[in-house]
Amino acid sequence: MATLFTKIIAREIPAEIVYENEHVVAFKDIAPQAPVHIVIVPRQEISGLASLPETGDHLAILNAAKTIAEQFGLTSGYRLVINQGEDAGQSVPHLHAHLLGGRTLSWPPG
Ligand code: AMP
Repeated sequence: MATLFTKIIAREIPAEIVYENEHVVAFKDIAPQAPVHIVIVPRQEISGLASLPETGDHLAILNAAKTIAEQFGLTSGYRLVINQGEDAGQSVPHLHAHLLGGRTLSWPPG
């Protein structure tokens, strides 16, 4: 099933892509929750954490997050979030991490 994010990866839907490599594509969130809000998506279509394979493109998410945080100059901190399932508010069934930064982030999240 082609998800919204599969279509962004395929350039069928426009997005402001800020980083990509052979494993992931990262773009600005359309409804940013912080001054920097980047969605990092593995090219491989995995519906979420609950169906994570042992290996695959998702293993590149952490290193991509580090690189993107440096790219955006987030020297004072940032947060990486993955929403899994209904209770967490996952709205797109294609695994993705949110990189949030550019402001103080409260804890715990809502
Ligand atoms: P989640 O709620 O964790 O599944 O995250 C999905 C995210 O995708 C939300 O933060 C949305 O704002 C974002 N989003 C939805 N459509 C687009 C789009 N066309 N371009 C960029 N981000 C999007």
